[in-house]
Amino acid sequence: MSVEKLAARLSKISESQTLAMARKSRELQALGKDIISLSIGEPDYNTPDFIKDAAKLAIDQNYTHYTPVAGFQDLKEAIAAKFKRDNNIDYKPEQIVVSTGAKQSIANVILSLIDLNDEVIVPIPYWVSYIELIKLADGIPVFIHAGVDANFKISPAQLEAAITPKTKMIIFSTPCNPSGSVYNKQELQALAEVLERHPQVYVVSDEIYEHINFVGKHESIAQFPAIYDRVITINGVSKGFAMTGWRIGYIGAPLWISKACEKMQGQFTSGTCSIAQRAALAAILADPEVVKPMRDGFLKRRNMVLEMLEEIPGIKTNIPDGAFYVFPDISSYFGKSDGENIINNSADLCMYLLNSANLALVSGDAFGDDNCIRFSYATSEDKIIEAIKRLKNALARLN
Ligand code: PMP
Ligand code: GLU
Repeated sequence: MSVEKLAARLSKISESQTLAMARKSRELQALGKDIISLSIGEPDYNTPDFIKDAAKLAIDQNYTHYTPVAGFQDLKEAIAAKFKRDNNIDYKPEQIVVSTGAKQSIANVILSLIDLNDEVIVPIPYWVSYIELIKLADGIPVFIHAGVDANFKISPAQLEAAITPKTKMIIFSTPCNPSGSVYNKQELQALAEVLERHPQVYVVSDEIYEHINFVGKHESIAQFPAIYDRVITINGVSKGFAMTGWRIGYIGAPLWISKACEKMQGQFTSGTCSIAQRAALAAILADPEVVKPMRDGFLKRRNMVLEMLEEIPGIKTNIPDGAFYVFPDISSYFGKSDGENIINNSADLCMYLLNSANLALVSGDAFGDDNCIRFSYATSEDKIIEAIKRLKNALARLN
């Protein structure tokens, strides 16, 4: 191996920890181990039939050619109408860019806006890829810590204190991966009022879990006119419509930013898959209530997980109001040992659970909070019950 021949930029970033854990558990499963993986954040539901039908029709209608870089015009129109319908945000179709997953949407935005030493505020816990993409763009992540006692949500005072003249951006998700926390309208308004005073700061609002919200209406920070022209709203169909493999994400943004993202994407991937775009069009045009059965299923599982975690001593958790993760604080187990090794941090605990309980979770340090571990409960009830049984027994063996 000639790793030293790789470009320096590669050494700045690490492998996605969520994908790494999913890979590790697949490898162990292939070796015949009975691994239960609650590591990857992906709905176990299949894509609804009406969306699959739209894709089949698209093939028959020969949607098999290159697509416009920013997406089909009718899809961009449908997304603009969706933003008005669901989020009360006015975007024109030219302000929309459709990409190969919300991950590419985020990469486009960060690479288009962040220069050497620009500061990017990232509330902890954060989604794994934000940090790596910021580093790839030579930016400097600036963290705000919001722990379990704050329901993992930052306050306006914390935001104000983190902003400097070098701050270029803040990036966060609501509903949040990994905490499941959801900002309500008043909380977003209070953050928007801080941002209003700092015109150099752009806001990347990742709303990919919009439809997996158990507390009612989803709220978007772009709805506040004072900062609208500095907000980039990220969304997509992966989570809400159980379409992770189709790879469709999108942004609504100020026109100059959407044009920049289009230019970036034109050199990386061009327009995204024609067939997946026709499927996404069917999803986005549909009444959002079509996803209610999946949301109800996630809520039932969330309640089950919370009830079962309550029976395990030393675990502290918030009540996640959305997404499909729980992010409990397990730090009371640090310093304990399985007889051979001492558990010093969340990564040690995850390794111990994988090796001794055949349970794959993701350690909190991947999301910036080493006191926690992340469970994805987007899996069957049987697997959840067995997983938490394994967790309980494994933790009980630590002294
Ligand atoms: N943002 C967050 C918070 C996510 O959890 C994910 C899931 N991978 C993404 C963005 C990327 O979504 P996609 O699969 O559409 O690229
Ligand atoms: N968003 C999912 C997760 O957090 C998918 C994995 C990834 O894209 O990193 O597990």
